[in-house]
Amino acid sequence: MTSLRREKEIMIEQHLKRRGIRDPKVLKAMWEIPREEFVSRELVALAYDDTPLPIEEKQTISQPYIVALMIEELSIKPGDTVLDVGTGSGYAAAVMSRIADKVYSVERHGVLAESAKKRFAALGLDNIEVLHGDGTQGWPEHGPFDAITVAAGGAEVPEPLKEQLAKGGRLIIPVGADTRDQRLILLTRTNGAIDRKDLGMVRFVPLVADPAQPGKARDSDYPTRAKGPMQKPSPKSRDDIVGMIRDTAEPFDDVDSADLNPLLDRIGDARLVLLGESSHGTSEFYRMRARITKELVEKRGFNIVAVEADWPDAAQVHRVIRGSQQQPPAQPAFDRFPRWMWRNEETRAPVRWLRDHNRSLTNEADADQTQVGFYGLDLYSLFSSLASVIAYLRQVDPEMAEMAIRRYGCLSPYESDPSAYGAATISGRFSGCTDDVVHVLTQLLENSMELTAHDGQRFRDAIHNARLVANAEAYYRTLYMGERSSWNARDSHMFETLQSLLDHDPGGKAVVWAHNSHLGNAAATEMGVRGEHNLGQLAKREYGDQCYAIGMFTDHGTVAAADNWDGAMRVKQVQPSRHNSFERLMHDSGVARFMLPLRRHAPEDLKKELADVRLERAIGVIYRPQTELQSHYFQASLSNQFDEAVWFDESTAITPLDRDAGGGKGTPDTFPFGL
Ligand code: SAH
Repeated sequence: MTSLRREKEIMIEQHLKRRGIRDPKVLKAMWEIPREEFVSRELVALAYDDTPLPIEEKQTISQPYIVALMIEELSIKPGDTVLDVGTGSGYAAAVMSRIADKVYSVERHGVLAESAKKRFAALGLDNIEVLHGDGTQGWPEHGPFDAITVAAGGAEVPEPLKEQLAKGGRLIIPVGADTRDQRLILLTRTNGAIDRKDLGMVRFVPLVADPAQPGKARDSDYPTRAKGPMQKPSPKSRDDIVGMIRDTAEPFDDVDSADLNPLLDRIGDARLVLLGESSHGTSEFYRMRARITKELVEKRGFNIVAVEADWPDAAQVHRVIRGSQQQPPAQPAFDRFPRWMWRNEETRAPVRWLRDHNRSLTNEADADQTQVGFYGLDLYSLFSSLASVIAYLRQVDPEMAEMAIRRYGCLSPYESDPSAYGAATISGRFSGCTDDVVHVLTQLLENSMELTAHDGQRFRDAIHNARLVANAEAYYRTLYMGERSSWNARDSHMFETLQSLLDHDPGGKAVVWAHNSHLGNAAATEMGVRGEHNLGQLAKREYGDQCYAIGMFTDHGTVAAADNWDGAMRVKQVQPSRHNSFERLMHDSGVARFMLPLRRHAPEDLKKELADVRLERAIGVIYRPQTELQSHYFQASLSNQFDEAVWFDESTAITPLDRDAGGGKGTPDTFPFGL
């Protein structure tokens, strides 16, 4: 069917490669198997969408990305014998048959088993055998298997499947007591033991065992409602859910007058408050996080503001609000794309407020502890951080400075284009600079006694920069290995930086300003399935209830964003949210602005409903409304992702300070924010 060629290319490029599927064998097999042959005629046009689709017996054909991910994680290779539990349409078995030598597939619905067999015959796939029976028993006659895949989820891993795993064999299966709460688990049989790896949240149909009469299942015994991976109709009606949101929401008129006391009560004595935004260019999000921050500083003693910006840029703001820098520095802060993300009215106001607040504390004995600090968590300042380390060492230890110049010299060819570093290392001819950047960091740490004797604060700053250089090296090196590794390197760095701030100040309390995608728990979104983690997830793991994560969302309005990386800022229209998104549920509540507790403080019913996987929108510094669904929506379980949501039905673009808010260099006349 040549007419679907383009759709198939999009599937391979957008849904598989861009989301981290790398194994050429898997990509080739996904290309070779015509998915349209596995769905009913009415659904052919949707065959290459990245979504599960209904098949007979109220079951589903799995989503292409999940099929590819499972096969990649199973490392299926030529020569392997594979067991496939849950034939369904036969699609996953067909893809695996293009890689493995032999695929044995078991399906409990006779109708499905029969039609899959016919499809395999029609397509000439002669290395697949199908059994109508209970797959939880495996297929012992043909075991042991090099790989076992299970396309339906139960409370635990069936013992017979583990037993039928060959040495070194791998088993992938969704596990969870409830289909709302499934994790994709990879088991590997090693010498005598079974290793377990959690691949994140998924949603599969239930695995239905029939121990009494394998293969002779009475349908009335089984749940009949079909639930596709990552997508499932909810038992409560939409109106019910919208009504529950309306009843629980705490409405407010505007950012300045909103009563934040109930929110502060919910935050309680948390040490970490994460303030996420679903776009980098929405005024309401910036103003609300400034307002919440102010309350946390004044009423709860928060003293650390850590933001998604580079360390050296934020350090300039830090010096200004602490009163230690009055004159603009040689290198203006926030000068790289996207400048408008920081150089805007909405950021200027809280920075001024923080400066005044700190001033009012200067006479207090412990001013250094109580004054608020402003810190950058990101790692894009590789070269200025590296220069700072050298400048520091030149002053305190010229010999170490020589060593650092030599070691860091390894990276210097890539100064104008750090991403070229990743390209160079992947060629295999150049082993990279990892040892060099790690060496500088360890030398600094090993000499900390002597170095802190000069100036503890400056030493700490140098350590931050040296760690940033090491983490940024890893980030750029892995840039070409797939989004997952570089994303993880970046978010790990952000978390490490945040933690070092908190470690240094045991009584300190931090508020974080960053995009929702960094702060909502990645394990509750499709990022988790892709093997990506983020700051929010690492923070939750470390701080538990001491960490309170808030996401901010909108339906429509205007936003400041660019068309492309390094492009000029434009004010764009935000499209109304899609019908199957969380945003649309909040929009349908009819409440224009509200705060909505989602976890500990939310009614159980609401929490449960908002745990169901739906679409969620993320606009970064780039917004492409033309391809909004592919570029800006992802799947998430909202009440597992955030503790609270803040809603602005309509929102407006931020106001940039620079007349030229574009990606090109101008002469910024406003640092530090025209104070
Ligand atoms: N891999 C399939 C996915 C089908 S959905 C595809 O690509 O189309 C999962 C399938 O598992 C359903 O068809 C369901 O009937 C089947 N299933 C559930 N429990 C089972 C069991 N105990 N034994 C065999 N099949 C089972």
